[in-house]
Amino acid sequence: MSVFYQDFHQIYRVPELDALGWLEHGFGTRLVDIPEMYRSLATLKQIHSATCVAAKGRRGELGAGDALLENTPGAAVAVRTADCIPILLADERNRAVAAVHAGWRGTVAQIARRAVEAMRERFGSVPADVHAAIGPGIGKCCYEVGPEVAAHFGEEGRARIDLAEANRMQLVASGVTAERIYASNLCTMCRPSEFHSYRRDREAAGRMYSFAGIRAAVQ
Ligand SMILES: [Zn+2]
Repeated sequence: MSVFYQDFHQIYRVPELDALGWLEHGFGTRLVDIPEMYRSLATLKQIHSATCVAAKGRRGELGAGDALLENTPGAAVAVRTADCIPILLADERNRAVAAVHAGWRGTVAQIARRAVEAMRERFGSVPADVHAAIGPGIGKCCYEVGPEVAAHFGEEGRARIDLAEANRMQLVASGVTAERIYASNLCTMCRPSEFHSYRRDREAAGRMYSFAGIRAAVQ
């Protein structure tokens, strides 16, 4: 069951992340223009890597990589996806966040694990303090891949791959508490009215923004 809900902007949110008063977060749909709403976003040129970049209060495109880290009040980081899995990390103790882009290559490269490690290195984040939200991406229902890709996930021949679950397991292996990992279980390809899907729409597919930020002022 999904614990995610849609707010009145049609952005998907997680109640457990709402409960962190300092955090702003959301997983965009095709129905909302997040860069228009949040003009201070930092993003990356995404390259399906395990490269993590510290945003340090900057905005705009900050170079190449697939996870952006931030702990500056008033700043927010985002990833763009259309089938790949967006993951938001939030360290409740140190008030630090990361936005992660994990397609199959990034998942194989262990970008989610690297992002948890990078938060530890940069912010002193303890994995047990980290909440992780796995947003809408292509589901196992729709993600059949050829033998070359399947082999990376321990499958033979053509196979259906569960990218969200692979990332969830990676987060657990990184020390994130299973109870603090929230999965949307929403498939981008199955829901054309809500989500862009590269596999479904090819070059016509747009991209959705998922973001996490630190509020400028907390009461
Ligand atoms: Zn599907």
